[in-house]
Amino acid sequence: MRLQVDGLRVRYGLHEAVSGIDLYVEAGEIVALLGANGAGKTTTLRALSGLLRPSGGQVLLDDRRLDRLDANEVVAAGLAHVPEGRRVFGRMSVQDNLEMGAYTRPKELRGALDRVLDLLPVLASRREQLAGTLSGGEQQLLALGRALMSAPRVLLLDEPSTGLAPQAVEAVLEVVAGLAREGVALLLVEQDVEVACGLAVRGYVLETGRVVTSGPAAQLREDPAVREAYLGG
Ligand code: ATP
Repeated sequence: MRLQVDGLRVRYGLHEAVSGIDLYVEAGEIVALLGANGAGKTTTLRALSGLLRPSGGQVLLDDRRLDRLDANEVVAAGLAHVPEGRRVFGRMSVQDNLEMGAYTRPKELRGALDRVLDLLPVLASRREQLAGTLSGGEQQLLALGRALMSAPRVLLLDEPSTGLAPQAVEAVLEVVAGLAREGVALLLVEQDVEVACGLAVRGYVLETGRVVTSGPAAQLREDPAVREAYLGG
C-alpha cells in the first residue's frame, strides 16, 4: 500500500500555496513534512484529505485517485486526517467525539470503538467525560482516536506535539509508532525537528510550496537547509 503524490498544486485565489509537490509514503512508514511557517505543510495535508481541491497534480492511494473525491469519500477510501489544534468537540463526551469519526462506516461502529478504546485506554476510563475537560495531551489522543475510528490505512497528522507537555508528547508518539508497526502509513507535519526526525524514517522539507530537500530523517536533521528553515524562518 502506498500513498503517492505527484505534482500537487493548491491555490488560494491567486496565491499558489503549494507549487508542484511530489512525495510518497508506504505502509508502515512514518514520513515527516518539515518547513517553516507558511511553507505549505498544512495546505498539503488539507489537499490530500479532500478539504481543499488541488489545482493540479494527482494523489493516488495504490491505484485509486483521491484528488477528485470529497473529504468523506477520502475517509472511506482509507485516509484520515488529524488536524492542527486537535479540534475536538469540547461539549460532547469522549465517546460521542469518537463516534463522529466512524460516520463513513456506521455498521462497524461498535468494533471500531472497542478497538480504539483498547489502543487508547486513557480514553476508555473517560468515555462519558466532556472532551473539553480533558488535558491537552488527552485531547490530542482523542483527536487521534477519532481519526482511527475509520480504520485508516493512511493517517495525516498535523503538529501532534504542539502545546503539549513532554510526557504527553511521549504518549502521543508511542501511539503513532505503534500504528506504523501495524502497517499504517503516516505523514507527519511537525514543528519540532527533533521530534519529527526521531520518529520518521524519511522526510521532505518544504519552502514556499516546493520540496527543497528530502531524504532519510537522520540526514535531514544535519542538513543546513533544514536548520535554516527552522532557525531562519
Ligand atoms: P504553519 O506551520 O504556519 O501552519 P504551513 O507550512 O502549514 O505553516 P500553510 O498554512 O499551508 O503553511 O500556508 C501556506 C501558504 O498559504 C501561506 O502563504 C499562507 O499564508 C497561505 N494560506 C494558508 N491558508 C490560507 C487561506 N485560508 N487563505 C489564503 N491563504 C492561505
